[in-house]
Amino acid sequence: MSTSNSKQAFFTGLAGNLDTLRQQGLYKPERVIASRQGAEVTCDDGRKLINMCANNYLGLSGDESMVQASIKATEQFGYGLSSVRFICGTQTVHKQLETAISEFLGMEDTILYAAAFDANGGVFEPLFDEQDAIISDALNHASIIDGIRLCKAARYRYAHNDMADLEVQLQAAAGKRHKVIVTDGVFSMDGTIAQLDKICDLADKYGALVMIDECHASGFMGATGRGTHEHHNVMGRIDIITGTLGKALGGAMGGFTAARKEVIDTLRQKSRPYLFSNTLAPSIAGASLSVLQRLSSSTELRDRLHANTALFRREIEALGFTIKPGTHPVVPVMLFDAPVAQKFAARLYELGVLVTGFFYPVVPMGQARVRVQLSAAHSTEQLNTALAAFAQAGRELGLLK
Ligand SMILES: *Cc1c(COP(=O)(O)O)cnc(C)c1O
Repeated sequence: MSTSNSKQAFFTGLAGNLDTLRQQGLYKPERVIASRQGAEVTCDDGRKLINMCANNYLGLSGDESMVQASIKATEQFGYGLSSVRFICGTQTVHKQLETAISEFLGMEDTILYAAAFDANGGVFEPLFDEQDAIISDALNHASIIDGIRLCKAARYRYAHNDMADLEVQLQAAAGKRHKVIVTDGVFSMDGTIAQLDKICDLADKYGALVMIDECHASGFMGATGRGTHEHHNVMGRIDIITGTLGKALGGAMGGFTAARKEVIDTLRQKSRPYLFSNTLAPSIAGASLSVLQRLSSSTELRDRLHANTALFRREIEALGFTIKPGTHPVVPVMLFDAPVAQKFAARLYELGVLVTGFFYPVVPMGQARVRVQLSAAHSTEQLNTALAAFAQAGRELGLLK
């Protein structure tokens, strides 16, 4: 085969794989939004939709206060740093944000990353080696799985949210030097809240560290929004917290790891996504700082989010839909069958509600659903409009009587 033929075979192969994905209904098209992100968005086809599938928990993504805070930070600190942190990329605003995150979460110190994906990708390898054990929930986020892969520590996986199996794995890891239990604080597909009280008790019993990924919790879980550790009353018992600035805490991008000083200092010296990737833009650092100041002085947004969540959970069940029980603003509306979930989401789009259908392999076979995510920005009127659309689509598809 000539070189050009074998090159052509590469592209033909990719095109064939993409066709297969389309035929299997697994190809992910992207909706194009022509407005700001928010409770209501306008798509590029001009359609106005109530958005119920963003991680915009506190409603800040498109909020004017964020736009102004990011402009202010840009004016003061410029557009970007053209540097990693340790060469010439650390400004006062980055240090202030790290301090504010530490205080908000009740941790000693914090290191910023370009994304939570990087925080998780860069947390294990500098801290643990082949003498150590990482004990990880089976449904942990992809970035945790990838981060663990980059580290030489022995891996133990416990069945999702299964405390008996976690204990079995802790016993299996008994010979290891250091042990760390790793879990999402909240699991985004079901809105399941990790049992951190029990996890901390097991960690104490077996001398293990505890690490949580708070991407679906920071800013609104717990009485003052600190996260799952506040929700479960274990603040002070968690050793490492990773999180994102790209969901509740403003919605732009950026991630962090918070822990004791010696952990954070080690990451600053050795964590590859920190050492070899550019500094977070000052506009994001400044606007994120303003979010933490706002959340520290008032629980208003967090309270509104939980009120909206309670209303939606109550009313969608009253209509006759099955949801995964819980209290988190992720509300899986169960349709079980993949084609039904797709048709349901498509009909809701026509009726002015933006949701996405999830089905195998993203969720287990027979567990297809649309995942609703509530926001503090949703008005009661918008929620009632959305609920009416759910009822209409449900009746039309024969899901409701
Ligand atoms: C979204 C998410 C991430 C990735 O966050 P980014 O800041 O967007 O990279 C990591 N972990 C969990 C659990 C998430 O939900």
